[in-house]
Amino acid sequence: MRQLIDAFGGPAARVKERLVGEPAYRSRRLQFSSGGEIIMHDDVTVAVVLHATPTEFAPYGFDLPPWVPGLDKCATLTDLKAAIGAPRALGGMGFVLDGAYAEPSFKNNRGWNDPGNLLSLSITVEAPQRACRPEDDDCPTCSDLLVRGAGPGGGVVVDRTIAALSSAAAAGLITESPRWVPLADLQTLHASHLMERVESQLSCTACKRIICLTLYRASPPTLEYTVFNEARQRPLEAIPPVEQWGDGLRTAQDRDSMHYVDHQPGSWFLVEQLGSLFLEARYWRNSMVDSSALIRLDQAETDSYRTGGHGYLSDLVGRIDKSSPHTKESPYFQRDLYRGPDSAMLSKSFAAAIVNHTWIAEQRRRT
Ligand SMILES: [Zn+2]
Repeated sequence: MRQLIDAFGGPAARVKERLVGEPAYRSRRLQFSSGGEIIMHDDVTVAVVLHATPTEFAPYGFDLPPWVPGLDKCATLTDLKAAIGAPRALGGMGFVLDGAYAEPSFKNNRGWNDPGNLLSLSITVEAPQRACRPEDDDCPTCSDLLVRGAGPGGGVVVDRTIAALSSAAAAGLITESPRWVPLADLQTLHASHLMERVESQLSCTACKRIICLTLYRASPPTLEYTVFNEARQRPLEAIPPVEQWGDGLRTAQDRDSMHYVDHQPGSWFLVEQLGSLFLEARYWRNSMVDSSALIRLDQAETDSYRTGGHGYLSDLVGRIDKSSPHTKESPYFQRDLYRGPDSAMLSKSFAAAIVNHTWIAEQRRRT
């Protein structure tokens, strides 16, 4: 560490410190006017970043050539491959270096084939796809949404944190996942004691971290930042029916929303809303790419479903798939509600209706 600080021309020009999540860890960033940066979590070094371009604390950017011969500020991904000469890491654009990882970042997350776009090179202990980037500890969009208690233990102030998350979501800065407990239901469900743990998940539009706010029946609430793959594998029991925990208003709201009816794993889901049936049919655009269409069953189809049941729907989905519903020639092209103006709202209501029945939901109940 001392050698690294000396090599960066230390001492640090700026030190930034903050608590991240709850239970919290202390993130400490030592930033050097040479363009080097060291990031520590609770006094353990987790990342070393070489900023190739000027930053607030380094007017000229890091002088790469003496450190990595063959690299300079104009390096493209091809130059990086040649200069670093290490195996590529799975996913992302990085390299495996002595059991750690070197991940370049480029302007606007693209432009790696053109000179002049290299922003930085991060050396991290954890694989970039498996853990949040330490640089995102300070994400200006999502790092200040947790409201901590004033006492020595701190902890999450649940109602104020939910208010902060809700207003960030309303402003479009973070996105609530319909595949978890809605933020608006989190406290009511927790108070009902029907679930061991209730969790809402929201993703940051800027840094892509997933914020997981969790209330437990028997322990203090937590707020953790995770990556997509880790977030989707977190445990969640089936969410009980609204009548068991919602107040009058919430129950009335639920009467008007979509409800799960039936599904065929990997192929279709059927939901009902105010007497109408909606079928989400999976189809294949080609042998590699699949997609889904949302069709409101007409009277004849509804009658056939009443008599033919599950088997009739599987046949219907087969016909929808064969007709290539992504092409105008298909009779289902016009009927696909996911092509219409309400598509975003519909897919959100639909995801909420099937929240307990997806493959992922079955997996997370097992963990
Ligand atoms: Zn963020």
